[in-house]
Amino acid sequence: MNTNEIVAIENEHASGTYAKQQFAIVRGQGALLYDADGKEYLDCSSGHGVANLGHAHPKVAEAIYKQANTLITLFESFPNDQRALLMKKITSLVDGLDRVFLCNSGTESVEAAFKFARISTGRKNIVAAMRAFHGRTYGSLSATYNKKYREGFEPLVPGFSHVAYNNIEALDKAVNEETAAVILEMVQGEGGVYPATIEYVQAARRICDERGALLIVDEIQTGFGRTGKFFAIEHFGITPDLLCCAKSLAGGVPMGALLIGKNVKNLVPGIHGSTFGGNPLSCAAANAALDVITEEDLPRQSEEKGKYLMEKLKAIQSPNIREIRGLGLMVGIEMKQKVAPYIKALQEANIIALNAGMTVIRLLPPLVITYEQLDHLVDALTEVLAMTMDDGQ
Ligand SMILES: *Cc1c(COP(=O)(O)O)cnc(C)c1O
Repeated sequence: MNTNEIVAIENEHASGTYAKQQFAIVRGQGALLYDADGKEYLDCSSGHGVANLGHAHPKVAEAIYKQANTLITLFESFPNDQRALLMKKITSLVDGLDRVFLCNSGTESVEAAFKFARISTGRKNIVAAMRAFHGRTYGSLSATYNKKYREGFEPLVPGFSHVAYNNIEALDKAVNEETAAVILEMVQGEGGVYPATIEYVQAARRICDERGALLIVDEIQTGFGRTGKFFAIEHFGITPDLLCCAKSLAGGVPMGALLIGKNVKNLVPGIHGSTFGGNPLSCAAANAALDVITEEDLPRQSEEKGKYLMEKLKAIQSPNIREIRGLGLMVGIEMKQKVAPYIKALQEANIIALNAGMTVIRLLPPLVITYEQLDHLVDALTEVLAMTMDDGQ
């Protein structure tokens, strides 16, 4: 099938819940993607932060192939070699988080965190941040702030409230003896690429401890090297009680995980579960992916490349740029105008970038992106960001 045929079929039969691009990607390699007609794109989206290792990493591919020929599915009631290995590896990543609940996506890890927080504390309320994005199923949607995701789906889950991000006073006022948990991103991704301040994150830890609430950190986008550390919490010197991961965990294969600390209680058989959770195929992919992250020292690569990219971006002189911010290879370029035309112009230069809200261009390239590719990205951005776009207003 060529690009036009593929696009036509999807336009006819897809649910309609996605704004579809009008070209079809059929192959990837490292930081590059190829459409059905062989055209090459530089991927600066990584599927919203899934492809940290790059596309079609040979070690992940080999692990999937091997495991597919061995055992694909097994309910978590039955212990398994790949799952045991993954549990050992993933709980060794953060001191104090020694248990893990395995699932299949980001939103599922957030749902598990909320259920565990309620059952553990006997309290109902969850405090989230304005601009937060935690997923689209009912619990995680209730913690997500933007009304664009929420409107039309009410009633949402009771007990959720939102306070200004990076505002210690607001958090201090909102958390009390009825709060089961506070949930935070260390860098708000979807919300516009806003890093937390160290003071704020440390205050959140202290406030939760004082009031007997649990601290949930959502590292679904920031995890696995994205921000220049294995987990973004390492920038802030805290350990949450529950840490949500997914996206890049299994090298692109669907998988979520919730890391669990000692303050989380009452997790007994039957209270939660998932048919596909902890399946040997995803576990084998994740084992390979975690090995690659360590072997290729992707957190350090992300830190160094992030610094390089940020310096070059900050040198771009354009009256259209309001601010450039980020951490590691999670970078936001806030424009004074809507960014849709800029993202379209980048696409015409064969670069796939994301937005984060109306006015922020978000760059989440695979961490294996080369310096040559970064230079190419900067050249394209220098040209595109200089343009003042007619955004139809
Ligand atoms: C992507 C994302 C989610 C949701 O993950 P899904 O796998 O799409 O359910 C939740 N939180 C953050 C911070 C994310 O970036």
